[in-house]
Amino acid sequence: MFIKKQRLLTPGPTPLLPRALHAMMASDIHHRTQDFIKLYPTVLRDLKDVYGTQNSDVLITVSSGTGALEASISNFFSEGDKVIVLSAGKFGERWVELAKAFRLTAVVLTAEYGDTVSPERVAQALTENPDAKGVLFQASETSTGAAHNVEAIAALTKPTGALCIVDAITGLGTMPLDIDGWGLDIVVGGSQKAFMIPPGLAFISVSPKAWEANASAKLPRLYFDLKKENKMAVKGESAWTPNVSLILALAESLKYIKELGMDNLVSNAQLLARATRAAAVELGLELFAPGSPSSSVTAIKAPAGMDSGEIVKGFRNQFGSIIANGQGTMKGQIFRIAHLGYFDFPDLFAMVAELEIILHSKGIPVEFGKGVAAVQRIYADAVAGKK
Ligand SMILES: *Cc1c(COP(=O)(O)O)cnc(C)c1O
Repeated sequence: MFIKKQRLLTPGPTPLLPRALHAMMASDIHHRTQDFIKLYPTVLRDLKDVYGTQNSDVLITVSSGTGALEASISNFFSEGDKVIVLSAGKFGERWVELAKAFRLTAVVLTAEYGDTVSPERVAQALTENPDAKGVLFQASETSTGAAHNVEAIAALTKPTGALCIVDAITGLGTMPLDIDGWGLDIVVGGSQKAFMIPPGLAFISVSPKAWEANASAKLPRLYFDLKKENKMAVKGESAWTPNVSLILALAESLKYIKELGMDNLVSNAQLLARATRAAAVELGLELFAPGSPSSSVTAIKAPAGMDSGEIVKGFRNQFGSIIANGQGTMKGQIFRIAHLGYFDFPDLFAMVAELEIILHSKGIPVEFGKGVAAVQRIYADAVAGKK
């Protein structure tokens, strides 16, 4: 038998930054003591730096990403308010579910899985619904590997009374997001994505325009009351008992991201995504979202007649590598390879080599090394300063 190392190649949770993981051991501190009050404001400040905003407040919720998505509804709207929701996959559908759960009136713009909602359709919806109070969408739709044109959608929303609310849980760290420049009112992130730490924290930026909406928003809220959270944050504390271990991990990962530079984190993901697409094409595989592929995750169709679960199983059983199947009706059709966070080229060399072996073992004709060579070429060209 061979040694099999577990490798997480999934779009959340993602590989953990070792120094962040080690920092979690120091969690034997109390959150209402000076030990924590020294730590927390630094974390909030670094988070704001990494988000790249001067104007917005950036807060932390102790929840998975969905908790902060819920907060971005419950804190800024009242029952019956109209919102425009862009739904291009499972996470777009989550926005629709949340809007319904909180009794908002949702105007839903749907795109086929793998596709995105065009800015033209958003412009039309805004014209037809001048009373819309929010535009909700995913920067990167993790279930399909497609990315929305955030800048264009924000530019359309900015002059209206609507808030631009972005689920950037896999957008942060994989694409440029100019919060202040583009007018992104709410930007949600999650710890287990490009932030390189375990699940359990979510992040949310709140613009001055969003705080204004908050002042008259009547939906019920308690645990995810962002006004209360902000009031405590100013004092260097969290509203409720935080998961101290994850705050310690986040402190380290934010330091790492600042050292690396957020721009470099983004271009790292972009280059890995480009190389993955090139490898897929070399291996005769079809991309699921060729029109506007995201750099957070690449969704690849299984060869005709094959269940993508076979490939997922091959990765796990043969190599201990964990990759994601499709979600919902996409299950069995596609497999997804992540690039967000702590991924490097050797991870991708290995992944593509594994894929070649798995395809070969399933009887798909593969020339060994063809996909890997595509990745090597892109890496070598990038290092040589060529595009
Ligand atoms: C991971 C993810 C979420 C959040 O899911 P949780 O399981 O609640 O952390 C939301 N939106 C997108 C686009 C995601 O990738």
